Amino acid sequence: MAIKTKAEYIESLRKLQPVVYMFGERIDNFVDNPRIRAGIEATGETYALAESFEHRDAITTNSPLIGEKINRFTLPPASIEDLVARVKNNRLLGGRVGTCYQRCTGMDCLSALAIVTYDIDRKYGTTYNARFLEFLKYVQKNDLTCNAGVTDVKGDRSLNPAEQADKDLYLRVVEERKDGIVVRGAKAHQTGSLSSHEIIVLPTRALRKEDKEYAVAFALPIDTPGIIHVVGRSSLDMRELQGCDTGNTRYSKYCPTVIFDNVFVPWDRVFLYGETEFAGDLVMRFSSFHRQSHGGCKAGKIDCMIGAALNMMDYNGTTKAGHLRGKVIDMIHRSETLYGCSLAASYEGKKEPSGTYFVDPVLVNASKLHEGKEMAEVSRLLMDIAGGFVSDLPSDKDFENPTIGPLLKKYLKGTADTPVEDRVKMLRLVEKITLESADSVSDIHGGGSPEAHRITIMRESKVGDKKALSKRLAGIEE
Ligand SMILES: Cc1cc2nc3c(=O)[nH]c(=O)nc-3n(C[C@H](O)[C@H](O)[C@H](O)COP(=O)(O)OP(=O)(O)OC[C@H]3O[C@@H](n4cnc5c(N)ncnc54)[C@H](O)[C@@H]3O)c2cc1C
Repeated sequence: MAIKTKAEYIESLRKLQPVVYMFGERIDNFVDNPRIRAGIEATGETYALAESFEHRDAITTNSPLIGEKINRFTLPPASIEDLVARVKNNRLLGGRVGTCYQRCTGMDCLSALAIVTYDIDRKYGTTYNARFLEFLKYVQKNDLTCNAGVTDVKGDRSLNPAEQADKDLYLRVVEERKDGIVVRGAKAHQTGSLSSHEIIVLPTRALRKEDKEYAVAFALPIDTPGIIHVVGRSSLDMRELQGCDTGNTRYSKYCPTVIFDNVFVPWDRVFLYGETEFAGDLVMRFSSFHRQSHGGCKAGKIDCMIGAALNMMDYNGTTKAGHLRGKVIDMIHRSETLYGCSLAASYEGKKEPSGTYFVDPVLVNASKLHEGKEMAEVSRLLMDIAGGFVSDLPSDKDFENPTIGPLLKKYLKGTADTPVEDRVKMLRLVEKITLESADSVSDIHGGGSPEAHRITIMRESKVGDKKALSKRLAGIEE
């Protein structure tokens, strides 16, 4: 059985020696750094659930490739059932960690590569699919986590990759050797790059013939020489390092900038090299799968937000306030529409020539657009329900202070039967879940900016059919 326990997963990360920087300092023991560890703990839940009696049947399945039981987070979907399971598992995990669990991006890359490497081989007689399947076997057998190296830093957005003043602003091949290639560039917002064993690099956009050196896809261990992870500065992260006021003390999200400083990639790990016309397809497949993933996990996060809203109402004595109950209903309908859209995209999925199933691209983009707007609305509703202490609660350290602690406990109490500590903890959770920048900005930009979703909707919708419908009713002959 190719399944790791959560403890084995964390131990396996200790064997890696990535180059990591944070706040200007080199971090050697990244696994025990509290900021990074909170992210590793979140990913670790995908392993913990595979061990649990209650959830293991949902999280694990048999691999058609290696014939063993595997974690579904290493499985390109081979049926509608697999597509649906992705959404359900994402919802489960989103509610459990209340933030991003950071393992879907790699699964989404694996799913995109399973389709596109096959299509490239059909056109050019290359062997990318066989190489990819060997890599996939390795991932499945060792129950690995991968991260998605898709977003280039992009420099001047009005210019194509080859037109940039600095040609490295999109990751590119700078040297071809007998045994592989050397790449240079940087990928931004790399969710959970240090919670992962492997980084999978795909192009960030459709490319023209002139951009051939940028048409490259590959996978490498996160500690490959030349790869540097710079962990970003996001809101609330100092609290994890200081060990106080963390709200959700166990789980967090972090998204390093990852620099590829002349990194060697052996041929057996190269899955696209120069076939520019397939770059756009790879991005479209990846981002569609990723937008499907968001529909599940963000619905799960709203589940947790709804629970926090109801608890705050109990603690504040507002349980019976009709307008707040109405606002909880508004939160519920948003989680269910998001979930429904993502599920619908899965049920409407289609089998590709490689045998991998692909989601409905219009429905997943509709789902993601909905998420971008509605997650902000759900946060607004939760802040409204919870009250102003979401923003400026005294610190844990003030509550522990012998002089002011007892006074704070007296004055911050809600209903008489609620321990003040519980009210403070719930307020902290609400602060974290509504204001954690790394996760809330991803509602808008994760998987591409909103305009990218809109463009895909227009391109993939059968607008000609819609025009024909209206012409028929209006009595206009085609
Ligand atoms: C929290 C978080 C997690 C993420 N995780 C990952 C990850 O794990 N892996 C990964 O690869 N990426 C990840 N991303 C990156 C994400 O896909 C990008 O942020 C997104 O694609 C937008 O790119 P950008 O940030 O460079 O913004 P920009 O591309 O600069 O976009 C900013 C705005 O400018 C517009 N714009 C940009 N270029 C043009 C143009 N030429 N013409 C007209 N308008 C334009 C956009 O539509 C947008 O409105 C993550 C992002 C976030 C915020």
